[in-house]
Amino acid sequence: MKTRVEKAVQALEARLLAFASELVQIESLTGKEEKVVRRIAAEMKQLSYDRVIIDRVGNVIGVIGNGPTKLLFDSHVDHVAVHDPEAWELPPYGGVINNGNLYGRAASDMKASAAATVYAGVVIKQLGLDAGKTIYVCCSVMEEDYDGEGLYHAIVDNSLQPDYVVICEPSYLRVTLGHMGRAIYKITVPGISAHGSAPEKGVNAIYKAQQIVARVEQLAKEYMQRPAGERPSLALTKIESTAVSLNAIPASCTLYLDRRLIPGETEESVAQEMDALIAGTDATWEIYEAECTSWTGETITLRSFLPAWEIGREHPLTKSCIKAYKELLGQEPQLYKWTFSTNGVATANRLGIPTIGFGAGIEAMAHKTNEYCPVSDIVTACQFYSLLPAYLP
Ligand SMILES: [Zn+2]
Repeated sequence: MKTRVEKAVQALEARLLAFASELVQIESLTGKEEKVVRRIAAEMKQLSYDRVIIDRVGNVIGVIGNGPTKLLFDSHVDHVAVHDPEAWELPPYGGVINNGNLYGRAASDMKASAAATVYAGVVIKQLGLDAGKTIYVCCSVMEEDYDGEGLYHAIVDNSLQPDYVVICEPSYLRVTLGHMGRAIYKITVPGISAHGSAPEKGVNAIYKAQQIVARVEQLAKEYMQRPAGERPSLALTKIESTAVSLNAIPASCTLYLDRRLIPGETEESVAQEMDALIAGTDATWEIYEAECTSWTGETITLRSFLPAWEIGREHPLTKSCIKAYKELLGQEPQLYKWTFSTNGVATANRLGIPTIGFGAGIEAMAHKTNEYCPVSDIVTACQFYSLLPAYLP
């Protein structure tokens, strides 16, 4: 099987790499992915996918096979902006392949893997590896700022019901078993407005907020005392106040907290922490909700509580990935956990679908100047994705 997959990928390699390069050349910021999505849909059609869907929120999903076991590969095709084009050694949207690397914004995060999955779909079809399976190749939108929302809609709106999900974020070809969660909290402290020349007639919301700021700082320090890898974190990231003018006492003060979540932490458990931070004050807290519009014009709301997720070493999906990797590369894969958040928050948590990670490219390159992805990773990832269905239970 390994040899057949290698041969099939080799025959397609030039097209695969040209396609990966082309994807990098198409700028596709969050909410502005139309061009790249249409390009991927066209490629899937040309590659004789059984079905190609562009859905309500603008994801593109290619379907191969119609068997009962359903496997979904997800790659988000939005990316962060380039603020320093002059600092790049090669043009950020050049998609240049040189010295064995594909260079450009989103090369690692994560158009390399997107291209690898699109071509894996073809290999799976050519070799009949879709027997008894349905393969969804999903290139999803809006991940960078709205983790999980695009993929959630891809799965729910289109009734895909996958049994297994592979998140193809860059993992340097390590089998990735989950990541920490993240949440944003908003604490609002009320005050009473008064003229700045008579502060005693009002209540300064910023002064009131000081007590909460001190508690946040203290708790953040306590978390840092815990062993690395097992600790949550807490950071006050922004303070805003409202006052009718610069010579008025502020009538409210808002604090934003970034809270990283470890496995097992829930909305309820962190609610107790938030209650304790505002105890004895008349402040209120809420989970921050962010809203955005997809390129198709749909409104998406992200509720910013994204729990950690993990999959066990003994889970059948993990075992399948390990077996496929061993057949392909002749050794045990490294097992890993991502340091960032991914669309897995939607599949593993909200939808309860067994989810694992494996991707081409270098995690540390994500969002960096001079981002690149090794070409060999793209080829190996394509081989791995092609082989995996054969190993699923
Ligand atoms: Zn990413």
